[in-house]
Amino acid sequence: MPQATQTKRAPVSGEFDVAIVGAGFGGMYMLHRLRGLGLSAIVFDVASGVGGTWYWNRYPGARCDVESMQYSYSFSEELQQEWQWTELFAAQPEILRYANFVADKLDLRRDMRFETRVTDAVFDETAHRWTVRTDRGDVVSARFCVMATGCLSAARMPDFPGLSSFKGKTYHTGYWPHEGVDFTGKRVGVIGTGSSAIQAIPVIAAQAAHVTVFQRTPNYSIPSRNGPMPEVYSQSWKGNYPALRAEARMARNGILANPNDVSAIATPEQERLAVYEDRWASGGTTFMAAFNDLITNKASNDTAAAFVRGKIKAIVKDPATAELLAPTNYPIGTKRICVDTDYYLTYNKPNVSLVDVKNTPIEAITPDGLRVGNEEYKFDAIVFATGFDAMTGALTKMGIVGRNGATLAAKWEAGPRTYLGLMTAGFPNMFMITGPGSPSVLSNMIVSIEQHVDWISDCLSHLSDRQIDCIEPALSAEDAWVRHVNEVADTTLYPSAASWYMGANIPGKPRVFMPYIGGVGAYRQKCDEIAAKGYEGFQMEGPVNAAVAAE
Ligand code: NAP
Repeated sequence: MPQATQTKRAPVSGEFDVAIVGAGFGGMYMLHRLRGLGLSAIVFDVASGVGGTWYWNRYPGARCDVESMQYSYSFSEELQQEWQWTELFAAQPEILRYANFVADKLDLRRDMRFETRVTDAVFDETAHRWTVRTDRGDVVSARFCVMATGCLSAARMPDFPGLSSFKGKTYHTGYWPHEGVDFTGKRVGVIGTGSSAIQAIPVIAAQAAHVTVFQRTPNYSIPSRNGPMPEVYSQSWKGNYPALRAEARMARNGILANPNDVSAIATPEQERLAVYEDRWASGGTTFMAAFNDLITNKASNDTAAAFVRGKIKAIVKDPATAELLAPTNYPIGTKRICVDTDYYLTYNKPNVSLVDVKNTPIEAITPDGLRVGNEEYKFDAIVFATGFDAMTGALTKMGIVGRNGATLAAKWEAGPRTYLGLMTAGFPNMFMITGPGSPSVLSNMIVSIEQHVDWISDCLSHLSDRQIDCIEPALSAEDAWVRHVNEVADTTLYPSAASWYMGANIPGKPRVFMPYIGGVGAYRQKCDEIAAKGYEGFQMEGPVNAAVAAE
């Protein structure tokens, strides 16, 4: 869990143009752009440094599954030319080094306050300003608030009875100790089989005496085919970055995935299998771009799912374990596709076992381990790879209070409601970077972060040029956007899976498909059109011309 406050400093007070919550890739770039606009800003983050998700997720094997050459800022030619990635898919320490390299180059830290949790942000309707308070006694007044809080930042520990009774060590993948963990000779239980677990299990198994994996739902995982970065490959990107970045910004997921614009089911079987073999051999999430209808046509999806199940069964030697690892009850890709290095192979090791907790759930954590049904498993350490309160958790946990004293948590009780995933009605002057209702987690996050930060920066310039000091979406525009987000989701197979995209991993969380699946390029065009029409769907007020309404 987040570390205790360490560094002494005086509380911050006074007025800023913008308060930013979060010093990950969103908050860092937002600060840089605001400086360019001549606006004053302060950034708060619980972490002791920059990097956001890459600061916290230090579990063994943590690695990005977007190619390194595509997972970096594109706004500065100098940054993208100077930084050298060492692997095709960068590991967490290297991405964190990259975040620090950017922070150094842009001298970002002087406007950041770390080890500081924003406890509440309250909008003053008369002054059109936010008052932001922290657990370090900071109280700042800001015209605008930018929530750069990340989509997967509120780690979730299931409420198992007996948790505090465990005598060994417990870890959550999302809050991994900075000093690392030595599992040598230890009996380790891992709860969960999502992206984090799938990356961590092979690495932990290489060290531990025994690893027992508790699986509720199996995932489809594609080999990453990671390796050292070939210089020629790096140069092919660096030599052509402007064009490639422009293409990525308009691509469906913000990633150059070489999409095959052909239906799977309309393709003859042998040809189709050859395409899957090819994608499997080249590895990574672009497997889902093998055909154009894998997320919309169940029959097409079934062919991809069957192919991956076949691979799992070919790799895993014990038929019962292979059967358990092969997903059958949801379409491939509708829970976040995973990417691994030797995940399935790891189950062939004598020190790794798999326990199905689908029908007989984990009942309790005990002093010596955990209990499933009548069986007790004994461990020296338990790793919770149990995921996040995704997309909304970080926001609804903060005390965000908008007009009429209404809280964001109450407004979103039945699911998040936003206009473009950028703002929410009733909370003027509060922007979200990659908020629910935007492509966010369905995309290359850095591409989506840059798009949102650029849009917000342009919007702030627009307001400042017109001396408008208050902006907020019209409820009708928000309602229409929420309807559109749902309609587009319903044209796909996504809502059929009990995924964290749907809030299904959190007991009691409403089942709403949270990200926007209309595509990164289409979404960007929509945002640009709205801006070009004078921020259509937004209401504006200002002290100079209080009558300025939605243009
Ligand atoms: P996750 O995908 O939500 O996986 C959590 C796992 O814990 C699931 O297998 C879940 O089972 C299981 N679980 C939760 N509560 C449980 C309980 N009470 N009993 C038993 N099992 C339980 O979380 P994650 O693996 O941390 O990944 C979250 C997201 O972060 C990913 O989908 C991805 O977007 C991102 N991520 C990306 C990378 C990468 O770039 N390579 C790496 C890591 C994470 P159910 O499925 O049944 O709920």
